[in-house]
Amino acid sequence: MERLTDYLRLANQEAKTARAGGNTPFGAILVDDVTGEVLMRQGNAEGDTHDATAHAEFVLASRASRTYSKEKLWKCTLYTTCEPCPMCTGGIYWANIGRIVYGISEARLLELTGADDKNPTFSMGADKVIAAGQKAIRLEGPVLEMETEIVAVHEGFWNKK
Ligand SMILES: [Zn+2]
Repeated sequence: MERLTDYLRLANQEAKTARAGGNTPFGAILVDDVTGEVLMRQGNAEGDTHDATAHAEFVLASRASRTYSKEKLWKCTLYTTCEPCPMCTGGIYWANIGRIVYGISEARLLELTGADDKNPTFSMGADKVIAAGQKAIRLEGPVLEMETEIVAVHEGFWNKK
């Protein structure tokens, strides 16, 4: 498995599981770029933990940082269904994960969530957060081929106002 869409599909599976478990429909996975192995999977865990910072990418970055060295993580990719927010991008930065691939953009997500207060998104792309840092984290997305599948997991979830 090497294609972006295969990995994003696995991340989307985590989003589905998260939603089914009463969490918001976001998912992420961590892949070792040297071996192609999926090292970790994580869905949003806000509903499970009552921790408002338990975004999939942030929890995954924290778990990864406690498990692997910064050297190893620099050669890993975090695949996430949606463009990571500034908090998550910051967490990925500090964990030293070298690459991010996201399915749909923050702007596309905002179209899905509207003004739902469960997701008051920032208007600050991950590219801006990375550009303000001191590491050349690679950022790829949106992956338009995955949009329909990712959007489907959000269908009927958000209470647009
Ligand atoms: Zn986030």
